Amino acid sequence: MMATQGIAQETGGPLPDLGVAKQVVTTCAYCGVGCGVRLNIDANDRILWVDDRPTNPSSQGMLCVKGRFGLTFVNHEDRLTTPLIRRPSADGGSVLEPASWDEALDYVAEKLVEHRGSFAMLTSAKATNEDGYVLQKLARLLMQTNNIDHCTRLCHSPSVEAMLRQLGSGATSNSYEDFDNAGCLMVVGSDTSSNHPVIASRLRRAIDERGARLIVVNPKRIDLCDYADYFLRPNPGTDVALFNGLAKVVIDEGLADGAFIASRTEGFEAFRASLAGYTPDYVESVTGVAAADIRGAARLFARPPKPRGPDVDPSRPYGGSCLLWGMGVTQHTCGTDNAYSLLNLALVTGQVGRPGNGVSPLRGQNNVQGCGDAGCIPDNLPGYQGLGDANRSKFEKAWGLPLPGERGLRATEMFEEAAQGNLECMYVTGENPLLSEPYIHHAEEAVKNLKFLVVQDIFPNETTQYAHVVLPAASFAEKEGTFTNSERRVQRVRKAIEPPGVSRPDWDITADLARRIARRLELPVDQFAWRSAAAVFDEMASLTPILGGISHERLDALGDEAIQWPCPTPDHPGTKRLYDETFAVGKAPFVPVEQGPPAAELPSQRFPLILNTGRILYHWHGGTITRRARTLLARAPELQVAINPQDAARYDVKEGEDIVVYSRRGELAGKALLTEAMRAGEIFIPFVKLRDANANYLTNAVYDPKSRIPEYKVCAVRIEKPGAPQAWRRGRRGAGAKERA
Ligand code: SF4
Repeated sequence: MMATQGIAQETGGPLPDLGVAKQVVTTCAYCGVGCGVRLNIDANDRILWVDDRPTNPSSQGMLCVKGRFGLTFVNHEDRLTTPLIRRPSADGGSVLEPASWDEALDYVAEKLVEHRGSFAMLTSAKATNEDGYVLQKLARLLMQTNNIDHCTRLCHSPSVEAMLRQLGSGATSNSYEDFDNAGCLMVVGSDTSSNHPVIASRLRRAIDERGARLIVVNPKRIDLCDYADYFLRPNPGTDVALFNGLAKVVIDEGLADGAFIASRTEGFEAFRASLAGYTPDYVESVTGVAAADIRGAARLFARPPKPRGPDVDPSRPYGGSCLLWGMGVTQHTCGTDNAYSLLNLALVTGQVGRPGNGVSPLRGQNNVQGCGDAGCIPDNLPGYQGLGDANRSKFEKAWGLPLPGERGLRATEMFEEAAQGNLECMYVTGENPLLSEPYIHHAEEAVKNLKFLVVQDIFPNETTQYAHVVLPAASFAEKEGTFTNSERRVQRVRKAIEPPGVSRPDWDITADLARRIARRLELPVDQFAWRSAAAVFDEMASLTPILGGISHERLDALGDEAIQWPCPTPDHPGTKRLYDETFAVGKAPFVPVEQGPPAAELPSQRFPLILNTGRILYHWHGGTITRRARTLLARAPELQVAINPQDAARYDVKEGEDIVVYSRRGELAGKALLTEAMRAGEIFIPFVKLRDANANYLTNAVYDPKSRIPEYKVCAVRIEKPGAPQAWRRGRRGAGAKERA
């Protein structure tokens, strides 16, 4: 039988001759569910197909279309294969030209030293934990800055902000198996079937097989609504009112968990007082959700039935409730207040820290959890160790130099500072901010302001077009390392094929660059002298208590099982559920929040519709990768604008017709998709860039003041048919199309 890397023993008979030269067990590179995959590789290092892993506890043999058919992007001809340096071109402009690693890295090292003091780093939640650790070490130790961040700023920074304050950790409290064992599942602002399809399958299974009940909270009708007991459809930007209203019903009807509140929380009386005005009738008037549904959903969440089958929590007379949420509730100017209101509901009902319950912000990219764990955030060292003296001194002792103590710039602040000319140099790895930032024309201006930009990635993209140097990185299939999924499970990533051209793993490129910077600064290079990703992990684990007992060696011995952090020692089994006994902050504080004013940009006569943005099943984020997976692109080749049929009739738009969407900041063309999933007055456009159209040409660069997440969910737009008489702005594209309200 053919050897399978990464697993001690594979069962089954001999394989038929399908051209498979090698099989490698690794982890899907798309979303934070973290499904186990087995890559079947031919003799030319091409992925032939992908198998699921029935023994992987996170995915249990399931894969979605992206994991099953979308990982072939690694073999795409567009891959970056050599370093590129921008040089003057014959026409007086400039062009990226191939260079050797020595030339490129020496040049980058020289420029980073030159701009030390005005430097920021955007790291990648697609890269491994090891990649992230080395990147943040370069920034903190050599560039002496905490200006490090990653895409969590654009998805779950409000969740992390609120969870750190109220619970002491920004991570999901439970395991996926708690979804299986819940009596009630409340899914808020998440189109789970599109964004985290394998989680959606587990939710459906819990409903079908164990009798779990479902509450969906979403302005858009999602597939899971077919299974829902309650579908609450709040007006955009009114989530705080809704969740305050749910909490008030729980308290007023005597459904609060008094013992839990007394022993595990603080600030309850002030919280109760803050809810005085949030009666179901008032909340209905603000949110549009019927008062009867508010009462019914509150009762179900607080007193869910016990699921059928084995009782996982005999100590309680009723079942557990899991609260899951996505970016529909966080990507708002009030995103952090929304997250506080969700956590308040979990605390008042005692629905955290027990089997079958918990709080779960569904993480976007494959390693967004691990990227934060590895320290790629501006306010914490690896393992969420704050920047205070004691923690810094521990790292200074290990790393041999003083470290900066001031909080660094967050991702969105980096672009604001660059736009104002206050930031000179950026190192961007595995991210494409000129597709993911709101109000792209504004972000382009910011990037053009930089004196030096280095981009490290696997494909050329919108951001590499502005780079002074481009460094070619290895993909997930071409390197060793680990990803950490949404249930804190640290899983192995294994090298299956050789990287194309001279591309290299991110950690290896960054360590090489760091040694060149260290030499220029006359510092020792031994802090960046690892010989393997395993050695990088060992150093990270030695300084990071939550990972202290994990190593590549231990993970390889465990096979598919992997380990959930916290895992402080090599004999610790890992932790399925946080907060069984206590919160990391001690007693969890209630944080009263008030429903704020309406969203920053409301519909007007000229822009009468509200745009909501998000993802779709067949594409991932901006589509830089999924557009290079032939099967996925074939299923979704064009940008579709989802419109309610009433609006379509009002604007005389037919199914599949070309339309143009305008906001105050730009425009895009797409095909009309008529669907009752949208309410009248609201449209939906996915983030993916297809045929030069991307929703972020329209979105608004306004931010939640607490987490600095942009407003991606509410922006005023109008639709027109191309060439229609009212298309008064034709020919005035993009930033130039800025318009009076
Ligand atoms: Fe990959 Fe996420 Fe799909 Fe699983 S659910 S196969 S991790 S994209």
